[in-house]
Amino acid sequence: MTADRHIAVIGSGIVGACVAAALSAETYRVTIIEPGPVGGEQAASFGNGAWISPASVVPMSVPGLWKKVPGYLLDPTGPLTIRWPYLPAMLPWLVRFLLSGFTEARVERTAKALASLLSDAPARHRALAARIGQPELIASRGLLYVYPDRSAFASDGLSWRLRRQNGVRWTEYEGAALRAVEPALGPGYDFGALVAEGAHCVDPGAYVASIKDHVLAGGGQLVTAAATGFSVAKGRLRGVETSKGMVDCDAAVICAGIGSRRLARLCGDNVPLCSERGYHAVIGGLHSGPSIPVMTSDSKSANTPTRAGLRIAGQVEIAPVRASPDWRRADLLLKHAAATYPSMRDALQACGITRWMGHRPSTPDGLPVMDRSSLSPDILHAFGHGHVGLAAAPMTAHIVTSLIGKREPASDIRPFSLRRFSG
Ligand SMILES: Cc1cc2nc3c(=O)[nH]c(=O)nc-3n(C[C@H](O)[C@H](O)[C@H](O)COP(=O)(O)OP(=O)(O)OC[C@H]3O[C@@H](n4cnc5c(N)ncnc54)[C@H](O)[C@@H]3O)c2cc1C
Repeated sequence: MTADRHIAVIGSGIVGACVAAALSAETYRVTIIEPGPVGGEQAASFGNGAWISPASVVPMSVPGLWKKVPGYLLDPTGPLTIRWPYLPAMLPWLVRFLLSGFTEARVERTAKALASLLSDAPARHRALAARIGQPELIASRGLLYVYPDRSAFASDGLSWRLRRQNGVRWTEYEGAALRAVEPALGPGYDFGALVAEGAHCVDPGAYVASIKDHVLAGGGQLVTAAATGFSVAKGRLRGVETSKGMVDCDAAVICAGIGSRRLARLCGDNVPLCSERGYHAVIGGLHSGPSIPVMTSDSKSANTPTRAGLRIAGQVEIAPVRASPDWRRADLLLKHAAATYPSMRDALQACGITRWMGHRPSTPDGLPVMDRSSLSPDILHAFGHGHVGLAAAPMTAHIVTSLIGKREPASDIRPFSLRRFSG
């Protein structure tokens, strides 16, 4: 009987929330351990671009990226930046990051592994949102990738080849046909690829909080505390130590986003997890504007209509968690939005703008870690989802529940093993 087994879920961003919901659906006793407000700003899951895209199979590190590194160091306005003072500390992670995308064969393997997490992500999210009584949180209007022209699209050939190889389908639009799909787009973008299967979440923070409410309504518990360690006897987990005392349990899942690195180390697992810091700006109070989420090829920003307004999310800033935010990066996103949607320039001046910075929990190869810990088979890792944590969370939850129930997951999980870091 699963009801006899008590599972602690450490961290309640989208990954922890989905894991907790999947475990409680299988009638395990679930306790969520989370120090912050669930769905709150401390989590990457609050402020992401809200895209649930089967097309997010292209890793950040691709062949030839190393040639662009000097530019990233010198240009503070590009989509990827490395803060100079932190370069020595980040160098080991950066080298692994560049090596992971050094050849097309490596990138193809990564894309295939990502596809196993993403290919049915919109359907899984729709099912979950319906189960928690909030189907309207997931919008299924497709996702539009836009380019200045067809030749710019062609020069991104590797990305679209990887997508095609992994079963992603899209429709191409040009000129007036593109503007019919999204009338707010300015003349800077004349070519687009619409991934009709793609979906987005209209309020990612509220989604996480609602999943947690559903878990609690089903008998789960929430301990508002930080996990600080593990009590293990003869290899079996006895409980999770927290800032508010011990939570006795039979198994635990580490889903603490960027905070997972420390917890994994306590289990003897040294995972190269780094923060790829990202930003968003939300333009609130818009009465009209874009209706379809748009990703721009040059600024790599996701422009997503949400309940709070148009959210422009993006930027990759390689710097430690402790470094203070550089709000100029959120302002850059606003500048790009004004170029993408010229008709909104005045609205940008008039509307209320909020800014946010958060930490993508990123491994060098862009794949999460889903594996049993070295300290005890009862402690599972489920973190490191980098750029795709929202989209990949339901499939992650399926894999975790399979491992806890000692069943074979629906897909090959070897790419997510800890062993890949030990070579
Ligand atoms: C700008 C930006 C845009 C993005 N866009 C997208 C997108 O469009 N689509 C997509 O799929 N992904 C996107 N992502 C990535 C996605 O947001 C992350 O991969 C995902 O949110 C990670 O979820 P998580 O639950 O692992 O971590 P988090 O959401 O960070 O949650 C971790 C939780 O663990 C808690 N915690 C930390 N330490 C402890 C501890 N010791 N004990 C207990 N709890 C602890 C934290 O308080 C936090 O609530 C984006 C990210 C950013 C920053």
